[in-house]
Amino acid sequence: LLMAYDPARRLARLQVSLERAVVNARMIYEILDTVPHQRDLPDARDLAPGPAAIEFRNVRFSYAQGDDILKGVSFTAEGGKTTALVGPSGAGKSTVISLIPRFYDPSSGEILIDGQDIAHVTKQSLRNGLAYVSQQPYLFEGSIRDNIRYGRPEATDAEVEEAARLAYAHDFILMQPQGYDTSVGENGVTLSGGQRQRLSIARALVRNAPILLLDEATSALDTESEAAVQKALDHAMSGRTVVVIAHRLSTVVNADKIIVMKDGLVVEEGTHEALAQRSDGLYARLHNLQGNAASQPIADAETLI
Ligand code: ATP
Repeated sequence: LLMAYDPARRLARLQVSLERAVVNARMIYEILDTVPHQRDLPDARDLAPGPAAIEFRNVRFSYAQGDDILKGVSFTAEGGKTTALVGPSGAGKSTVISLIPRFYDPSSGEILIDGQDIAHVTKQSLRNGLAYVSQQPYLFEGSIRDNIRYGRPEATDAEVEEAARLAYAHDFILMQPQGYDTSVGENGVTLSGGQRQRLSIARALVRNAPILLLDEATSALDTESEAAVQKALDHAMSGRTVVVIAHRLSTVVNADKIIVMKDGLVVEEGTHEALAQRSDGLYARLHNLQGNAASQPIADAETLI
């Protein structure tokens, strides 16, 4: 307990959480950023379209000069399927996600999309194929329409509206004072957590990218918003390769594959049925702690491990 009050420690922790918040913001901006200002390798090619299968091959990674955070991670996320990352806090789930758009590069190992090593792919073509929905949806000052269109600046009004419908946002948007032209953000209308999430899902949908990276929200919404957000996500996930940091048991249960991480390694993988049967496994322990309530976040259970 005393250590928790150690100012140096608190500062160090604050530093990491600030950096993580910055990474989150960067994820949103840079995935959406279509200007190829990042340096590519001389032999870099555009990502060739395919089923959008993702493979991690023995990936190691550390932040700056620190310890290895990923210590040889290997897994595949099949094209068009949902792969859920679960595991205790600090296991490396967010780090895995942030390597896919190449916010960082592995210190060794490879990440492949349809067999193409992403280190040798142009960043622009890589990021064009990705959409990202974060835990804390970021909305900038501007109209609702602009906030959705930010996912793909050339989208037409009709496409923006279609995305909003699929994200179950159209109806509440029409109820705002100026509909799609209502401004949000600092001096605009205040939207509920669930509404903000649906706008961010609409933004991802308008992008129409084959890969969706999703950091599922842990904060509880009221039941009605929860259901609307879930339906919006179902639309966003359908037919795409989804890698989701799953916090809800229902997401995990419905995933095609579950990757269980601990201390920078994949410790188990399989379907919910298969993993739940391994009574001594980490997944089964997480699952039991959860009391089988499909809508409960598993964050609390995680901290017990
Ligand atoms: P959580 O569920 O709490 O988000 P996680 O499984 O997603 O955890 P990561 O966020 O990938 O885990 O963090 C793995 C480790 O890397 C942690 O020890 C974390 O403190 C550290 N870490 C994460 N981001 C950074 C960063 N930008 N700089 C330095 N260390 C970081």
